[in-house]
Amino acid sequence: MDPSADLPSPLERTLHAARALVLADLAAHQVAAPDVVSMVEDSVVQRRWWVEQWPDGMPYVAGLVAQDVQDALLERYGRWPLCPVCGSGDPHALDVEPELGPDPHWVCHQAGVKVAAVGALGAALGGSSPS
Ligand SMILES: [Zn+2]
Repeated sequence: MDPSADLPSPLERTLHAARALVLADLAAHQVAAPDVVSMVEDSVVQRRWWVEQWPDGMPYVAGLVAQDVQDALLERYGRWPLCPVCGSGDPHALDVEPELGPDPHWVCHQAGVKVAAVGALGAALGGSSPS
């Protein structure tokens, strides 16, 4: 009986949390299609390898997965997540800041504002339906 055998490691918890945060943001924009979920899974697999090489990077994983999925969506579907702050002008995507750091946020560089923490986009959108 080894009680630690049933407990997920910090790495597993970090990866699980990152996946949940990014999936929550995808769901907020109603883009949680099956192939989008697989984009998240692909990123988590790559970041698992990455953080095994560099355990100190564990706090950065959520921001990196968010950026990986953003890049993958841009290739297949287009910009995500679209900025909910700017009411006029060209539609533009939010960026993750810091690109490599803990506590990642979605920011709009045009308005110069933090929109939401990664994982909290749904709350930032306030549940309002797009017009
Ligand atoms: Zn904006």
